[in-house]
Amino acid sequence: MAKIEKMVYFFGAGKAEGNAKMKELLGGKGANLAEMASLGVPVPPGFTITTEVCTYFYQNERKYPAQLKVDVEKALAGVEQIMDKKFGDAANPLLVSVRSGARSSMPGMMETVLNVGLTEKTIPGLVALSGDERFVYDAYRRLMMMYSDVVMEKAAGIEPADDMGIRKQLERVMNELKKQKGCKSDVDLTTEDLKNLCAQFKVKIKEVLKKEFPDDPMKQLWGGIEAVFASWDGKRAISYRKIEGIPDDWGTAVNVQTMVFGNMGQDSATGVAFTRNPGNGENKFYGEYLVNAQGEDVVAGTRTPAPINESSKSEHNKDEVSLEKKMPAAYKELFAIQDKLEEHYRDMLDIEFTIENSKLFMLQCRVGKRNGPAAVRMAVDMLKEKLITNQMACLRVTPAQIDELLHPIIDPVAERQHKAVAKGLPAGPGGAKGQIVFSAPDAVAWAKQGKKVILVREETNPEDVEGMRAAQAILTARGGMTSHAALVARGWGRCCIVGCGVLEVEYAKKQLHVDGKVLKEGDWITLNGTKGLVYEGQLPMIDASRENKELDDFLKICDSVRKLGIRTNAETPADAAKARQFGAEGIGLFRTEHMFYGKGSDEALFLLRKMIMSNTKEERQKAIDQLYPFVKKDIKGTLEAMDNLPVVIRLLDPPLHEFVPQDAQKRAGLAKELNINADEFNKRADSLHESNPMMGHRGVRLGITYPEVSRMQIKAVFEAAAELIKAGKNPYPEIMIPVVCDVKEIEFQLQIAKEVYAEVCKKTGVKEIRHMFGTMIEIPRAALVAGQIAEVAEFFSYGTNDLTQMGFGFSRDDIGGFLPDYVSKGILPGDPFQSIDQVGIGELIKIGIERGRKARKNLEVGICGEHGGDPASIEFCHKVGMDYVSCSPFRVPIARLAAAQAAVKN
Ligand code: ADP
Ligand code: MG
Ligand code: MG
Repeated sequence: MAKIEKMVYFFGAGKAEGNAKMKELLGGKGANLAEMASLGVPVPPGFTITTEVCTYFYQNERKYPAQLKVDVEKALAGVEQIMDKKFGDAANPLLVSVRSGARSSMPGMMETVLNVGLTEKTIPGLVALSGDERFVYDAYRRLMMMYSDVVMEKAAGIEPADDMGIRKQLERVMNELKKQKGCKSDVDLTTEDLKNLCAQFKVKIKEVLKKEFPDDPMKQLWGGIEAVFASWDGKRAISYRKIEGIPDDWGTAVNVQTMVFGNMGQDSATGVAFTRNPGNGENKFYGEYLVNAQGEDVVAGTRTPAPINESSKSEHNKDEVSLEKKMPAAYKELFAIQDKLEEHYRDMLDIEFTIENSKLFMLQCRVGKRNGPAAVRMAVDMLKEKLITNQMACLRVTPAQIDELLHPIIDPVAERQHKAVAKGLPAGPGGAKGQIVFSAPDAVAWAKQGKKVILVREETNPEDVEGMRAAQAILTARGGMTSHAALVARGWGRCCIVGCGVLEVEYAKKQLHVDGKVLKEGDWITLNGTKGLVYEGQLPMIDASRENKELDDFLKICDSVRKLGIRTNAETPADAAKARQFGAEGIGLFRTEHMFYGKGSDEALFLLRKMIMSNTKEERQKAIDQLYPFVKKDIKGTLEAMDNLPVVIRLLDPPLHEFVPQDAQKRAGLAKELNINADEFNKRADSLHESNPMMGHRGVRLGITYPEVSRMQIKAVFEAAAELIKAGKNPYPEIMIPVVCDVKEIEFQLQIAKEVYAEVCKKTGVKEIRHMFGTMIEIPRAALVAGQIAEVAEFFSYGTNDLTQMGFGFSRDDIGGFLPDYVSKGILPGDPFQSIDQVGIGELIKIGIERGRKARKNLEVGICGEHGGDPASIEFCHKVGMDYVSCSPFRVPIARLAAAQAAVKN
């Protein structure tokens, strides 16, 4: 590894060596602390040890570069100078926090230790300085709780049994004392109580961990630094990174920062806030705080935080005094700072602050997590406010967040008929139903069995992430909108309700009490995460594909940026209309065979079967003639629904034997219609059997054997279009020939099309029917001879499902048996049927486009495989210069966004 140039970056007193752009080196927290310091925002001074040191640490058997000790001491001296205090000094001690900070935020995954430097020797000094003995012992007991947990237990690799971790054990000691003294909250403990508690903690730590709590400030400092580096390799952090796709080699930085104290009494406080509401995107400063509290008290859920202002009030905290009222001067300053920061960063920020004896300090800022509805609203608003550009707006919403807006909600009609059993805070939107489980491991195990579960907890902590991931939704009894559960759920766009105080959870019995009822593990509940309502049992869900003005506005911004066209795969007039509502600009794939499946298809299917089972040309022609009106009707309806827009109509694709009935009664009926006996019928059916039908007699191959079948379909297209034209409409069919591997196949079909076209024009008197004639590219050979094919075809549509199947030689229907091994063993990065394999199949696509466009400059190129709705594949389609992507109606909004993002990024 190259020599590390600089290991420690200083920040404070209006200056900083780093800045917000240096996240890779300083971590998100360090980079933003530096940026805030430079902006003149009041940040307690400190320094950041870089991620390079973390990398070095792991590459060198957990040792530090030799220079580090000197650099840390130098930086610490700089802090001491600004603060006019000394670390470890008996009379005038400086205390620091040791904070983790990875490149991207990993809520609660990494460790932080507060009040470092407090020892038997420095305690009297701090008492004298603060004039508040109670505060000092409160800080001391917190140091012991955090230090023993983070440094002495976790970093030492000790894995205690459930509930036997040192922190839990110390909490029990404290709860016991609270009970004895009749205290509700830890702020009710007296100085004497806390002194007593600290003494008990020391004994307990020694007893459980077999080591003394270190009474040396430097030992504490280095212990903290090492523990932060070690937490990068902790089990929770590793599993979080796996879920979020964060590389293991990024490493974390360590921030050492002067302590400021929110626990110094009634004019001290600590809080967490967002520059806008992260739950709905409203442009209102939003947050929670606690008087006389420190660090994570706000997110821990042990006390109910109060709202910082009117607009942060909810059902749960409406009776608490807001910060605005309680400490108006500090609030005013905080408000001005958040405003300035949002303008500077041009995004919604998540900030941490502490007020020490009425003086405000900023402790963290970062771009805030938000759910889908909030992301969309903020992007639209910020563009209007001219805070961001069109391009930036498109990047502010992820495809998953759009997905979230299109997600199920509880059917409002059913919801009105049910009474909620509980109400909590709406931390993650949408509806969800599932069976109750009470632990993260149970959630994972049940989900593996294909069950839908809702994870119910008192509160969640970072150990629960995998279970939260596996659950449909999360419900907690404690915690506010900034609690761990809310933060994580918001990041994932998962339905979540927190702070549902009326729930009484009994882990041991795996049950909960609510509304006078007992709900047990496995019982169904339904959540409305948008309103925070909990219902017993299963309520019906509906798709939220209703009108949504904000989403429409946002997608229009995307439309102004994207280059790719967006079409849809649809085969019924209803689907076509739906897709048009979502913004589809045409149909990229209409499968004719669809009319033979499902509801209302009996008659058409019977006639198709008759056609298939016919033996002579005459017999077949009779069936075809009978079938014709059905085919025409379906095509006409769809062309009409997509009036003015192109509709790619694919001729019959599947192998014929798929349609041969298996049912004895149906077989008998068909035989009778054809005037043949059962033996003859079975003989004909057997002759259609193929051993590898996916590569058998299908697609254009049928049209070669039975030109009359192609003729009938093409006639249906042209006649439908002609009738629409006569009715004053403007249809635009594109006739597509599937499974082509050679230009001669399509030449043969084009000949039929030309004849039919002339006939239809003559018969209907319509002079011109706007249309195109083209092919699917789904066989590797077709991509290679695309130059020849484009001499005849006016458009290509990549059928990437089959192209992937035949390119890899992977049967789509059989990959379940081996693909998981390929992915888990790292042989393939993912399922190539979900996201285009850009290096291999993508190369075939590129070759096809290049050769095709060489032969025909204005060749229209699109994609109609499942990949057309996958954001990464859409970006690829943009890069290779396709004209459009086509996907299922519900993916259309996501495709519009993905296409815009592709245009911005490339
Ligand atoms: P996380 O990454 O989990 O948010 P932080 O490093 O931000 O962890 O610290 C946890 C809590 O401790 C936060 O509430 C933070 O504001 C508080 N904190 C950290 N450093 C200090 C400090 N120097 N003075 C006061 N509070 C601090
Ligand atoms: Mg933390
Ligand atoms: Mg923090």
